[in-house]
Amino acid sequence: MPLILITGLPTSGKSTRAAQLYDYLTERIAAESSSSSTPKFRLHLISDQSLSISRSVYDLDPAHTPAHVRSANASEKDARAALYGAVKRVLSPRDIVILDTLNYIKGWRYQLYCEAKNVQTPFGLVQIGCPVARARGVNEARIRRSEQQEQQEEEQKAGNGTTTSTTTTTTTAAAAGAAPKSGDLHPETYQQSHQNWQQKQFEEESTGPDFEDVTLSPTDSQEPYTPRSNWENLVFRYEEPNPMSRWDSPLFIITWDDTPSDTKATFDQIWDEVIVNKPQKLIRAN
Ligand code: ADP
Repeated sequence: MPLILITGLPTSGKSTRAAQLYDYLTERIAAESSSSSTPKFRLHLISDQSLSISRSVYDLDPAHTPAHVRSANASEKDARAALYGAVKRVLSPRDIVILDTLNYIKGWRYQLYCEAKNVQTPFGLVQIGCPVARARGVNEARIRRSEQQEQQEEEQKAGNGTTTSTTTTTTTAAAAGAAPKSGDLHPETYQQSHQNWQQKQFEEESTGPDFEDVTLSPTDSQEPYTPRSNWENLVFRYEEPNPMSRWDSPLFIITWDDTPSDTKATFDQIWDEVIVNKPQKLIRAN
């Protein structure tokens, strides 16, 4: 049964959609198997998280990666080997596998496509569409949260008992700080500090990274991509799927803003076209 790859920019909402697809397929499989005691298909969700692969394996920044690792790209290679092994172990005519990782390299997607063909099972790709600024905003929010957690831990260790959540982020627009309040200052001082504050904000907005403010879900506990260059490099290295290639088709697109009914319609399409193999309006290379 099919190998379904999830692909998209880092922190673009891949795991959220992968989990929704998993829930959807669980229900469909149960409905399909209602007359028999054993489910028709087995379902697997394999991801960086399920294999405890850290975000740091993607960091190729010379400043943070020792030369011997960098030259062989060893850590990311090891991660890919672990993911490949996990897929290979379960992929079979009775197993549906969702692979939720970046899947950003064309050659890697080709390798997985060949693996699916080897076991004569269908293949499909789901791309998560998300503006770069929003995806960056998710990473920024995770960085802020982990900095706050670190600060709280340090404060607790220092034994002062204060666990205020003062942000330590220095490279976001928030670093300009709160606008000065007129009532607190002499009018001239206020005018000067307001001008300084405006100037600082302008500089940060015009030179700082472009990101949207994103609220993380309360259950979100994923680590951020750090340092920020790790995230930026992954965006730079991302190889967009090309539905004209066999290994990037059929390609289904789900965007961040898709409503539950849009998403369900795409999942229905995946079920029909990939799982029960009922071709409809496919974007297919051949
Ligand atoms: P990725 O797997 O690409 O790193 P996640 O799925 O973990 O991204 O999502 C990152 C954060 O964005 C999470 O807090 C999640 O709840 C939120 N998020 C993801 N997709 C959506 C969406 N479509 N609408 C609202 N919030 C979302």
